[in-house]
Order: sequence, then structure tokens, then C-alpha cells
Amino acid sequence: MSIFIGGAWPYANGSLHLGRVASLLPGDVIARYFRLKGEEVLYVSGSDCHGTPISIQANKEGVSPKVITDRYHNEFVDCFHKMGFSYDLYTRTDHPFHHEVVQEIFNQLLDHGVLYKKAVEQTYCNDCDRFLPDRYVEGNCPHCDSAARGDQCDVCSALLDPLELHNRSCKLCNGSPLSRLSDHYFLSLLKFQNKLENFVDQADGWRENAIGLSRRYLREGLQDRAATRDLDWG
Ligand SMILES: [Zn+2]
Ligand SMILES: [Zn+2]
Repeated sequence: MSIFIGGAWPYANGSLHLGRVASLLPGDVIARYFRLKGEEVLYVSGSDCHGTPISIQANKEGVSPKVITDRYHNEFVDCFHKMGFSYDLYTRTDHPFHHEVVQEIFNQLLDHGVLYKKAVEQTYCNDCDRFLPDRYVEGNCPHCDSAARGDQCDVCSALLDPLELHNRSCKLCNGSPLSRLSDHYFLSLLKFQNKLENFVDQADGWRENAIGLSRRYLREGLQDRAATRDLDWG
């Protein structure tokens, strides 16, 4: 039997703290257990090197995102080495091989018609000259008028779209963001509703809460998800 263990990929925008290391440890324990039993084990992980928080931190420091990701990736590798983690492969998402595989999957999904293009309204800050991720838009909640972020209101727990906020401001420069249309690819999850329902019905060896949560998502109806971002880093 071959055992594949995909560990969580730590985000390369800050040092690891004890909680993050603790959450990675069970994967290593399981890898060692199966190796001792004589099984063939493939235990992989890597540093998550893309995304908005990294590009924003790079802007702040006046360096390229690569400088930030190199700094923390090297720190992670050193930390895992000192702690004796036994990864068979520890890589990073900005490695050319990773890009190649992701692009291959993206193109396959496109060829099979499960990715489709749609124009969506996004918040855009003229002063920063960039589209803003949801949590970088701040304003007042349309339901309870408390101060809220673009993704949710912590006071009344409402999930929000940043364009619903009143008195919107850009978290980076305090300017007033506008809305702008932008083309994005969406993954048509709805097309998989029946297949996934059957899959969950036949689930074998799953934990109760995993089955319960999956059933809840399916009962509420699957939503198509944006698979692209307005971002030049990732
Ligand atoms: Zn609210
Ligand atoms: Zn701004």
C-alpha cells in the first residue's frame, strides 16, 4: 500500500509560531508510523508563496515579493530541519514545476468546460492603482451599521460583499475605492452537485463531522467559485 500525506502549506509572510508547528506535527507522526510499518510513504508539503498579504508586505518594505518569500521559506526549511521533520519533499508554490502543474490542471478544467469566464464587479482603489481583496475594504455594515471589513461583520456575523459596505475606505491608503468590472474564471461547482452527493453517500471511513459538514454544504446548494484573482503575484 502507498500512503500519501499532504501536509498543510505554511504561508510565507511571517515566522512560524508554536501553534502552526503543532498543527503540522500530526502529519509527521503519521508518516513515521507508516514507514515503521514498512509502507511506502510520500509525505509532502511546501511554503505557500503567493497572494495579496505577501505582495502588500513587499510594497511596504520596498522589495520584491520574492525577497519576502525567500526570507520565510528559508526560515521554515531551517526550522523543520532543526525539529527533525521528515518530509520526503518540501517545496514552494513559486517553483516553476508548481506553476506548470497548476496551469496544466487549469487548462484541463477549461477544456472540460467546468471553468467559465464572467465579468464581476470588484472594488478598485485609484490611489493604490489596484483591485482590493475583500478584507482590505472597510466601512459600515449594511445590517447593523458597525465598523466592518469587506468580507464579514464581526458584530452581527453577517457575511458581506465589500460593495455592500457604507462609507467604504481602502485599508491601505484610506482613500475611497470605486467599483470596476473585471473578467474572472469561475469553477462551476454546481455541475458536480449530483456526483458529490453520491460520493458522500458512499463515504467509507470518514469522520462523522466531515460527513455532516459536506452534507450541509450540499443541502445549502453549491456555489460557483472564482478561480482567478486580480493580482500580479500568484
Ligand atoms: Zn453587522
Ligand atoms: Zn488605496
